[in-house]
Amino acid sequence: MRSPLLASLVALALCSPSQARVVPEYRGYIIKLKRAADAPSATQALESAGVSISAEIPQLGLVISQTSPESLTTAALSQIEYIEPNYLVRAVGMQRRDDFAQVLEASSWGMDSIRAPQAWAITKGSKNVVAAISDTGIWRIHPDLSENLWNNPGETGLDAEGRDRATNRIDDDGNGFIDDVMGWNFETNNNHPNDDHYHGTHVSGTIGAVGGNKTGVTGVAWKASLMALKFLDSNGWGTTEGGIRTILYAADNGAKVVNCSWGGDAYTQSLRDAIEYAKSRGTLVVAAAGNEGTDNDREPAYPASYDNENLISVAALARGKKPALTYFSNYGRESVDIAAPGEDILSTYNPLQSPVRREWYYELSGTSMAAPHISGAIVLLYSLRPDLTWWEAKEILLSTARPVTTLQGKVRTGGTLDVEAALKKAALVL
Ligand code: CA
Repeated sequence: MRSPLLASLVALALCSPSQARVVPEYRGYIIKLKRAADAPSATQALESAGVSISAEIPQLGLVISQTSPESLTTAALSQIEYIEPNYLVRAVGMQRRDDFAQVLEASSWGMDSIRAPQAWAITKGSKNVVAAISDTGIWRIHPDLSENLWNNPGETGLDAEGRDRATNRIDDDGNGFIDDVMGWNFETNNNHPNDDHYHGTHVSGTIGAVGGNKTGVTGVAWKASLMALKFLDSNGWGTTEGGIRTILYAADNGAKVVNCSWGGDAYTQSLRDAIEYAKSRGTLVVAAAGNEGTDNDREPAYPASYDNENLISVAALARGKKPALTYFSNYGRESVDIAAPGEDILSTYNPLQSPVRREWYYELSGTSMAAPHISGAIVLLYSLRPDLTWWEAKEILLSTARPVTTLQGKVRTGGTLDVEAALKKAALVL
């Protein structure tokens, strides 16, 4: 049983228009300090008021605590702007296909649907554009991904002593992370964001599997810098805190977009604050709308349903002659922006997750697979026009959505991604 105080704090955390169906599971609490600018002394004050603090997120003035809200003293409460559960969130995955016989043959339907081949006549992408994948990690030795992995310029080359910056155990670029060459693992807090699941690897391939190498598949962008930010575990589960940390890292380290193919039912102010921070750094956040087949306007899913201006929420388009949403895709006339292919999407895979056949490619379905089409399109937009603001990039993508009758009233634009149209419009922006 929750105490009345805790219940009211949870209710506060859920103060969005949602009616939470069940209070989701959580791991400790996220506390926003009243004076973010003066975090060290506020943290000390909290600790001396008996609050245990296990971690800090300085950019947002947040701390993580296991102390339950009901035991907070008046002195502690006086330091706190808000406190909310550190909810669990999970990858928005779907079961993969059983009949994967003709896999490699099958699926360029998604790329055709978004008119990627026509777009590639304009640009195929650029290693200068960084796309962050907030997910289960990336299977780094995949032959269709390794060349497009982000290489942190501040952690490569030689340091003053002539040692390799990548392995010298020094935070050479002073970003708070030691030897973070390809990203970070926020689950185990080290520099090995390797995928021990398959979700992040699949999402990454849709954004930027290497093109023109006569191997496997190509991403929406043939060239990109894919930043691996792992916070979801080997079962696809993570915490709100982990999700926040990935978004902040992406924003602080030059990503133009961070793909979030994960979510949960609970509104948290701290995750919304993290997306707002990303906006201040010019980073777009692309979120999967969710796979419950429900209306996000009535039953929100987060982060997809936040109202941050720099967020794009994506529904899944079905494969088939008549364009329509998949049966599982969430929708929302107000809160879901656009559709993109999200059924039978062939992309890169972690072969260890397919023990019998050792598949390096697999077809998956889900809004998780739709979102990275949008993220890949953002890479192409910035490759063509590095000078675009986040607002322009978003406006161009949404305003050029191809209208689809069955999407009217289901997503805000009433349409699905058209990369060629987006690039043509971007070329005209002064
Ligand atoms: Ca570093």
